[in-house]
Amino acid sequence: MNPPIRISEPVPPRDDVQALEGYHSPQLDVRVRLNTNESPYPPPAGFVEAWLDELANVPLHRYPDRQARDLRAALAQRLGQPMERVFCANGSNEVLQTLLLAYGGHARRALAFEPTYALHSHIARLTGTPIAEGERRPDFTVDPETATKLVERHTPSIVFTCSPNNPTGTLDPPEAVDALVDAVAATGRGLLVVDEAYGEFASRSAIQQVDDDRPLVVVRTYSKVWSMAAIRLGFCVAPPWVVEELEKVVLPYHLAAPTQIAGRVALRFDTEMKARVDELVRERDRLLDALEGQAGVVPYPSGANFVLFRVQADGQRVWDGLVAHGVLVRNFSRWPRLHDCLRVTVGTRDENDAFLEALSRVLTEVTS
Ligand SMILES: *Cc1c(COP(=O)(O)O)cnc(C)c1O
Repeated sequence: MNPPIRISEPVPPRDDVQALEGYHSPQLDVRVRLNTNESPYPPPAGFVEAWLDELANVPLHRYPDRQARDLRAALAQRLGQPMERVFCANGSNEVLQTLLLAYGGHARRALAFEPTYALHSHIARLTGTPIAEGERRPDFTVDPETATKLVERHTPSIVFTCSPNNPTGTLDPPEAVDALVDAVAATGRGLLVVDEAYGEFASRSAIQQVDDDRPLVVVRTYSKVWSMAAIRLGFCVAPPWVVEELEKVVLPYHLAAPTQIAGRVALRFDTEMKARVDELVRERDRLLDALEGQAGVVPYPSGANFVLFRVQADGQRVWDGLVAHGVLVRNFSRWPRLHDCLRVTVGTRDENDAFLEALSRVLTEVTS
């Protein structure tokens, strides 16, 4: 027998994949972790019990419901929407990927307004969809006029916006969403995708603007508000003709039974969830006030469970200093448009106090 032929180099992936960098968000072992916008609280104990109870009766040798009907019906009822407008997937990132697989591709274009959630352009590239970059205004809102011009110029098949915007916390006013859907509808060839991963923390949502004859999709997740980042469940509200295409594109039986059940059972714990949201919104506003009062710091208004702030110092040094004090926040200091900016996730009261105290110390250290 001949010896097997061995290769001396790894097999190259697609050229466009080789050119990509992976998703980086360093996880360090520190005392206070305020870097990934998770909830500081686990789901209610009653939820875990109810979920496991139902799970015990699932016929595990059978595939799960391909259309996730019970989950979608429960979600639809809660949102006051028909079930035909709800699509569920493994985290909202899979919803975004499915939208791009169905509506993107190399012959088409997506449009995003920077600075925004990096995964919008990253997943676009993964699906071979060229991405055009629009700019947000200095206060990080989307300017409807500039946006409309860009939509006319690029005729994108997907326009992304994010409200509240990650990482800036900015809320799009309903007029901006309306202007964008109108601009996209006028081209007759695109969808407006509003990523509302933090929607429950905000005072307004675009879900009520979804209609069967408007090209508007609103994306939500269980990862943040519902304290279920580990479950991986997200969904979108969209016209039924969009949902039908998404169902075609996902792999058969992509949503596991434990995930479907978790999403449905969680809705029964609405009251507990609302109390957590209220508590986090109070803490966010307290953090914002404290940052306003801190010399050398400019916080941006936020409708989410995090606050972006700019330091009048070297942002990288401030981030390093915070880590040295056992506090991990997200470092955007080297991002275009976000120089010297850091983003802190709202944690428990004690965690937020630990962060504020560390920040005040670090600022004294780096500016003296
Ligand atoms: C966290 C986040 C998501 C979440 O993704 P999942 O896949 O649902 O965990 C989506 N969009 C934005 C803007 C986010 O910040």
